[in-house]
Formats: sequence, C-alpha cells, structure tokens
Amino acid sequence: MNSRREFLQKLTASAMAFSILPEFENEITKYNNDQPYDGPVLRVAIMGLGSYGTRVAEAMQSCKMAKLTGVISGTPDKIKNWQTKYNIPEKNCYNYENFDSIKDNPDIDAVYVITPNALHHGQVIRVAKAGKHAICEKPMALNAKEGAEMVEACKKANVKLLVGYRMHFEPKTLEIIRMRNAGELGKVLFFQGLCGFRIGDPTQWRLNKQLAGGGSMMDIGIYAVNGSRYMIGEDPVWVTAQETKTDPIKFKEGVDETIQFQLGFPGGAVASCLSTYIMNNLDRFFLNGEKGFAELQPSTGYGPIKGRTNKGELDFPHVTHQTVQMDEMAAIILQGKQPVVPVDGEEGWKDMKIIDAIFLAAKTGKKTAIKW
Ligand code: NDP
Repeated sequence: MNSRREFLQKLTASAMAFSILPEFENEITKYNNDQPYDGPVLRVAIMGLGSYGTRVAEAMQSCKMAKLTGVISGTPDKIKNWQTKYNIPEKNCYNYENFDSIKDNPDIDAVYVITPNALHHGQVIRVAKAGKHAICEKPMALNAKEGAEMVEACKKANVKLLVGYRMHFEPKTLEIIRMRNAGELGKVLFFQGLCGFRIGDPTQWRLNKQLAGGGSMMDIGIYAVNGSRYMIGEDPVWVTAQETKTDPIKFKEGVDETIQFQLGFPGGAVASCLSTYIMNNLDRFFLNGEKGFAELQPSTGYGPIKGRTNKGELDFPHVTHQTVQMDEMAAIILQGKQPVVPVDGEEGWKDMKIIDAIFLAAKTGKKTAIKW
C-alpha cells in the first residue's frame, strides 16, 4: 500500500461491501475432525497463558489442522507447566522481551495474542514484523485507529491478521445466517442483542481503563456489535447510546458499567442492544424479519448455544468453538479458505469503528453517523 490515505480508502471500500456471502452450504454443521488428515498443519504459539489462552490450548488438542508448538509468556512457571503438558521444546518458549526473535523459528507459523486488550496493538505489530501470521483476541485494539494500524502492519509484512471471533464458525449461528440469506426470514427489520454478566474482582485488568480500554463494551458488548452485523448482514450507518452507572467506585471514569445502544442499518433495520457488567442472564440474540424470526439464547457463551426460529428448534450438535475456530483459521491461512462471515483484521476494525461511535454517542447524547 503506497500511502496511509490509500489504505484507509481501501478499508472503507471493503467496509461498504456486503460482508457475508449470499448463499452457502452450512458446512460447519458437518464439522467432523475424526476423519484422518495428513495435510498441512498451522503451527501456533499462544501469547498470554491466562484463562482464555488455557481454554484455546485445550481445545486445540482436538484440532486436525492447527497445533500448539510454542508459548510467549511473562510467567516462567506457566511456561514450564505448558511445556510439560503440551510437549513444547525450550527453543519455542519466549517472553515479552525476546519474542521478536520468533522470526528465526521455523517451527512457528502464527502467534495467537490472548493478552489484555491494550497490549494487542503493539504485540500484533511485533508479530507481523517477525513475519508470522497473527491471530488476535477481541477486541482487536482499543480503537479504530489502532485497528487500522494493525491491519496495515500485517499487510505490509505480507502476513494474515485474523480476529478470534469464534461465533463466526458456530453451527446454529451459521444456520440463521443461511436462512436469512436464502430469504427464509424475509426482509430483516430488527435485531436485539443482550450481552452482559456480573463482574467480580474489582482489581482485575478488565476494570482498569489502561489495560481494558473501557469496561463492559470492549469485553462483552462487542458481541452485540459484531452479532448485529452478522445477524442483519449489513454494517450500521448511525448509532445512539446511553450510559448508566450505579457503582462509580468499582466502575471508574472511562470504565463503562452499562451502555444501551441502538444501531441503524442501510436497509432500514434497527438494532437495540445492551452491554453490561452488573447483570447476569444476558446472553440473547433475537432477529426479526417480515416472514420469520430467529433467536439464540445463550447466543455467544461457550455453549451449547440454543436456538430456534419460527420453523422450530435448531438442533445442530454442539462443537467446541475454539477447536472449530482454530481448524477453520488454519484453513484460511494455509489454504486461502473464505469463511462465511469474515474473521480478518478489517472485520475487527469495523467493530472498533462502531465502538468508537458508541462511546462518542454516549458522551454527547447525540445520534452519531458512522461513515464507511
Ligand atoms: P487473563 O487475565 O485470564 O489472561 C491474560 C494473560 O495475559 C495473563 O495471564 C498473562 O499471561 C498475560 N498478560 C500479559 N501482560 C499482562 C498484564 N499487564 N496484566 C495481566 N495479564 C497480562 O485474561 P483472559 O484470558 O480472560 O483474556 C485475554 C484476552 O482474551 C482479552 O483480550 C479478552 O477479551 C479475550 N477473551 C476472549 C474470549 C472469547 O471468547 N473470544 C473469552 C475470554 C477472553 P502470562 O502470565 O502468560 O504472561
């Protein structure tokens, strides 16, 4: 890319494009990793051996196209445990100071960044500069500017950047998208996304603006932002938002406790969403069209996801999200496979752009246009 302006223009053009393929076979519903496989395997190092990193590593044991071959951590004891558990040689172990030298390691193709949100931007750019593909947890960054810089760095280094949107591979979710694309729901006019949980320990990084970049919106509200886009199949063009706070001691300045937000879509659909850190039992998507409806509850937890439409229950078998995600991401990186719903850097950047607008709308109380 010649210039930053050209890059942003390209990003904007791709943002305007319809992001979901019009027709597809719901192949994830046929996901079966019991079949023997002797093709190429994506060798992955996980950066950040915390609670989600641990879940991903365990799920990857059942992958056929992805394998854990390295770790990057600031905690030597964890490295030792992971080495034993996953048979990782010393030469594939790094810390945050020395991981740039991963560029000389032929046993690692990609690094999966699973650290606190504020660290993603710098770490992904370092991974790209080391010539390795980057998989980054959500939210990909703290804002759209950072997200665009990460996309640019990966393009420049000729490596892929994917964002850990595991729901993009979830069978019931994909079935609803298939039904919508096939016209079975008619014209879609409304989406509701309720995302929240009651957060505990007030000292955790998720409640520290410096490391989290916000509060519930960055962590859990992003599922409603992202979900509104893949359920409706368009990108929003305006947002309104209202923030409320019942506990200003726990949720300090810049750490949102609860935000309600509304999104308007070019085809006329609207979304009404809630993001919160003070209420449990909020994990629900509802999509309404002129001919039918679809609902998921739970909609974005680790599963089993439960869903029904006007035609009845969705009864696809549960798959471990992170196992399917990593196999599918390996196919994207190694074989250029096109997922039904994109998981690339531009996709993460779009969510950051919408979240920037939500924060602005909550602050100003004004309807905010999102220009793509
Ligand atoms: P944890 O706090 O459990 O783990 C984060 C890890 O990052 C730590 O254990 C540590 O690993 C490393 N780390 C590096 N620097 C710091 C620092 N300054 N403070 C704290 N930890 C640091 O967080 P999660 O695993 O729950 O979340 C990590 C990321 O994954 C977040 O971006 C989150 O949004 C995302 N996530 C995504 C989920 C999904 O379903 N897609 C679900 C849960 C989280 P080490 O000791 O090895 O250095």
